[in-house]
Amino acid sequence: MKGSSSLYSITMINEQQIIVIGGGAGGMIAAWHAASLGAKVLLLEKNPQLGIKILISGGGKCNITNGADIQTMIRQFQTNESRFLKYAFHKFTNLALLDLLHTEGVETYVRENGKVFPKSHDAEDVLKALRNMMDRVNVTVKLQSPVKEIFVDPDGTFSIKTGRDTITASSVIVATGGSSYQKTGTTGDGFRWMKKLGHTIVPLRPALTPIIVSPAPPSLWQGTPIRDCTLMAISDKKIVSEWRGDVLITHFGLSGPATLEVSRNAYLEFELGKTINMCVDFYPELSFEQLDEKMIADIASAPARTILTLTEQLVPQKLAEYILVSAKIGFIKKLNQLSKNERRGLTTILKRFSLGTVKEIPLDRGEVTAGGVALNEVDPTTMESTVVKGLYLCGEILDIAGPVGGYNLQAAFSTGFVAGENAAHPSK
Ligand SMILES: Cc1cc2nc3c(=O)[nH]c(=O)nc-3n(C[C@H](O)[C@H](O)[C@H](O)COP(=O)(O)OP(=O)(O)OC[C@H]3O[C@@H](n4cnc5c(N)ncnc54)[C@H](O)[C@@H]3O)c2cc1C
Repeated sequence: MKGSSSLYSITMINEQQIIVIGGGAGGMIAAWHAASLGAKVLLLEKNPQLGIKILISGGGKCNITNGADIQTMIRQFQTNESRFLKYAFHKFTNLALLDLLHTEGVETYVRENGKVFPKSHDAEDVLKALRNMMDRVNVTVKLQSPVKEIFVDPDGTFSIKTGRDTITASSVIVATGGSSYQKTGTTGDGFRWMKKLGHTIVPLRPALTPIIVSPAPPSLWQGTPIRDCTLMAISDKKIVSEWRGDVLITHFGLSGPATLEVSRNAYLEFELGKTINMCVDFYPELSFEQLDEKMIADIASAPARTILTLTEQLVPQKLAEYILVSAKIGFIKKLNQLSKNERRGLTTILKRFSLGTVKEIPLDRGEVTAGGVALNEVDPTTMESTVVKGLYLCGEILDIAGPVGGYNLQAAFSTGFVAGENAAHPSK
C-alpha cells in the first residue's frame, strides 16, 4: 500500500488505471479518448458537475473552436506556445472535434469571424455530448472529489489523495485548468502539485481580462460600446499593447473583445509599476491626415451645423460633449467658425482618446490564465511530463493562453486528446 495515512482510507482500485484530475474540456476529452483505447479511466472532479467553464464559455453559447485552417489557428498563440501546440493541433484538429460533436448530434455553425458555436446557442449541448461520449466508453466519473495531493511512489506509480480516500494509478492526467474564475473550481491546485513534483511554474498572469481604470468612467458612459476601434495600452509614450475590435465601457473601466486581448501584454508593463494609459483610436483605418481631410469634407458639407452635432456622429453620442470639453471647443460653435487649430486638436483626440490609466488587471476575471507549467518540461507529442514519468498534463494548466475565438477550448481539447492517447498507450 502506498501513501498511507492514518487519516485516510486507502482504496486500491486498480494499479493499471488512469486517473484524470479535472472534468473540464481537456480532462473530459482525455478521459474519453484513453477509455476508447481500452484503458480503465477514473475522472475526479471537485465540483458537483462536470464542465462548468464550458457552460459559461462564450456567454453560455460556447465558442467551441475556430473555423480557420490549422496553421492559422496555431499562429494565434505566442511563438513558444505555437511551437508546443503544433503536434496536438494537427493530431486532433478543429474539424475532428466538430466531427465528434456532429456525431453526438450537436449541430454547429461558423460565424464570419471564424468562431464556431452550436446552432442551439446552448453550451449545455456541448457538455452533454462530452458526457455521453465518456459514458459510452465506461469512464468512471466521481464528482465532488477534490484531489488534495499527488504522490509519486517509489515504484513510479501514483497515489492520489482526495478528501475521502487515497487512490492508486499507473498514470495520471492533470487537467485542473488555470487560476481565474476560482468560483468555478479552478483554484490553481494543479500548479501547487506540479511545483512540488519538481516542475517550473511560469508566473501566473491575467489574460483576456477586463481592465479597471482610474478614474472610473463617468456613470453616463457606462454600457457604451465603442465599435471597431483600436484600443492601445501606452506606457512611457510607447504602445505596449494594441488590438482592433470593440471596447465596452463599464462601471469599473473597460471590457469587450479588444480590452480582453490587450490585457495580457498591458499587465506585463503594469506589474513593473509603470503607468499605463488606455487610449482609443476611433478611426484606426485612417491616418491623422486622412481623418483631418474627412473632417474638412464633413465641415464643408454642412458648415452651419454645430460642432456638437458633427462630433456626435463621429464618436458614441455619450462621449461627444466630454471630447469637446477636452478639445476646449464650445458645443454650439458653428462648423464654419472652427479654427484650423481647433479642428486639428479635435482630430488628435479622435486618434488618441484617453479612457483612464490602469488601476488593476485582475487575474480572477481573466477568461484564461497566462503562465503555468513550463512547456519545455512537457513532451508536446505525448503531453507527458519530462520531470515525472507517467504524469500527463493538458489544457490551461500548461503555460498557454490564446486569444478570444475558440482557440483556448481547442487547445484544451487537442492537448487532452494527445494526453489521453499516450496515457493509454505509454509505449508510443
Ligand atoms: C467566462 C469565460 C468564458 C470563456 N469563453 C470561452 C470560449 O467561448 N471559447 C474558448 O475557446 N474558451 C473560452 N474560455 C476559456 C476556456 O473555457 C478554458 O481555456 C478551458 O475551459 C480550459 O479547459 P481545461 O480543461 O484546461 O480547464 P477547465 O475547463 O477550467 O477545467 C478544469 C477542471 O478541473 C477541476 N479541478 C480543479 N482543481 C481540482 C481538484 N483539486 N480536484 C478535482 N478537480 C479539480 C475544476 O473544477 C474544473 O472543472 C472562457 C473562459 C471563461 C472563464
